[in-house]
Amino acid sequence: MFTLVLFQQDLRLHDHPALFHAAENGRVATAYIAQPLKSRPTASDVWRHHALLNLQQSLKKKNQTLILRQGDFVDEVLKLIDELKCDAVHWHRSYEKERIEVLQKLRQALEQKGVHVHEFEGTLLLQPEEIVNGKKEHYQVFTPFWKRYRGEHIPSSLPEPETIEQGESAPSLSVDDLGLLDPVNWYDDVLAHWKIGERAAIDQWLHFREEPIANYAEDRDFPAKMSTSLLSPHLASGSISARALWASGRSMMQSEQYTAKSDEIDSFLRQLVWREFSYYQLHYNPDLDAVPLRKEFEAFPWLNNDQAFVEWQKGQTGYPLIDAGMRELYATGFMHNRVRMVSASFLVKHLLIEWQKGYEWFKETLVDFNIANNGMGWQWVAGCGADAAPYFRVFNPILQSEKFDGKGDYIRKWLPELENVPDKYIHAPFEAPERVLEEAGVELGRNYPFPIVDHKAGRKRALEAYDVIKKSK
Ligand SMILES: Cc1cc2nc3c(=O)[nH]c(=O)nc-3n(C[C@H](O)[C@H](O)[C@H](O)COP(=O)(O)OP(=O)(O)OC[C@H]3O[C@@H](n4cnc5c(N)ncnc54)[C@H](O)[C@@H]3O)c2cc1C
Repeated sequence: MFTLVLFQQDLRLHDHPALFHAAENGRVATAYIAQPLKSRPTASDVWRHHALLNLQQSLKKKNQTLILRQGDFVDEVLKLIDELKCDAVHWHRSYEKERIEVLQKLRQALEQKGVHVHEFEGTLLLQPEEIVNGKKEHYQVFTPFWKRYRGEHIPSSLPEPETIEQGESAPSLSVDDLGLLDPVNWYDDVLAHWKIGERAAIDQWLHFREEPIANYAEDRDFPAKMSTSLLSPHLASGSISARALWASGRSMMQSEQYTAKSDEIDSFLRQLVWREFSYYQLHYNPDLDAVPLRKEFEAFPWLNNDQAFVEWQKGQTGYPLIDAGMRELYATGFMHNRVRMVSASFLVKHLLIEWQKGYEWFKETLVDFNIANNGMGWQWVAGCGADAAPYFRVFNPILQSEKFDGKGDYIRKWLPELENVPDKYIHAPFEAPERVLEEAGVELGRNYPFPIVDHKAGRKRALEAYDVIKKSK
């Protein structure tokens, strides 16, 4: 058998069922088909550029050439099949609407040509159809979903194929040709914060499981503590597999060496199942990225003030925790989860700007962007998603800051202009006496903004807007 393996959002060799089974069955060719970008390259496109370079190198060590092509996905694969004369094509299942449609079209075209098609699970721990409740319905609430996973058998993760027999090859573009890097280089500073590729992902996990995981459950909400795994961009590009993480986490829980960390590991696996829940929601709601799951939110009276949106994007809202988060995002392509929740809530509730706009900004700037997590994250915050925070729970950006960045370390890291503001006022500099600000070198309206909306007034306005859709239900 001669099999073409199509890489997509699974840029790794370990636990890659499509590649593993192809390598077991005979000769192999590997390809990545890039679809032309519809807009300027985003942070996750830049990440993909480097993850592809890395994958190319890893495959080369196995005597494999990664054939790169760009264009219409179906046409390009069909052309490759004619060039290579493969008997079979392997790929991993997708949960994204557009890609599902393309893969269905490809399957039909290949089957008509008599080429075998095999689709494997390469993204999730379990496929959504495997997880239904007692009434054979899909889960809408996270906690029972998570409990279910704890008891389920998760298929074990596969090793990297030891050898891969190279079949015929075909001409390839270079990674540069794919246009994943913006001609204007804004990305070197972002990339300086990361190591990209499969080896880097595995090393990141090994580091995390030895040290930061020890206090994960308590510390994961504190952005200055840097105690989360930072694996999300690797999971998004597929440089590390969720099943491999699950297997590693579970085996740690069973080992005496890690007994004391068992709750922490469990807490990490729970977050991994939040990822699973996002994909599950996307499977049942293909428009999760654009359409509110709770239909009454379609009539929400958004204000959509453009200037306020730009101030939020730039981290100039006058609320330090939010501004620190938005600047972290712009500088590194990442934002801590707690701060994502608070800054997203501020946009949707205090500013009454529709969540889809926030989704688009995160899509542009996050290195870990993926439709499922971003869609569910925004719908959760806006109160219109599955098992979402109720709309009337409006995060207070000052209290959140006091609670999760008490000493203001995270704020000072990203807002150097507030470096000398005393801890007491770091969460709300506009409440500080004139003299204190003067001593700290802060002049509101000059080097740090006044709040663009008053918290109490913003909260009241948000609840009034919510009343409009409550009445329309
Ligand atoms: C508005 C909003 C938008 C978001 N957009 C994205 C996105 O585009 N891509 C993305 O990967 N995550 C997104 N998240 C979820 C979460 O913020 C990130 O996954 C997390 O911050 C990544 O950091 P980490 O890898 O250190 O997480 P850890 O705490 O180490 O968690 C391990 C893994 O579990 C998964 N995970 C953790 N928290 C969540 C969560 N709340 N929802 C779903 N999966 C989770 C991630 O895959 C993460 O890598 C979003 C959250 C919000 C509130």
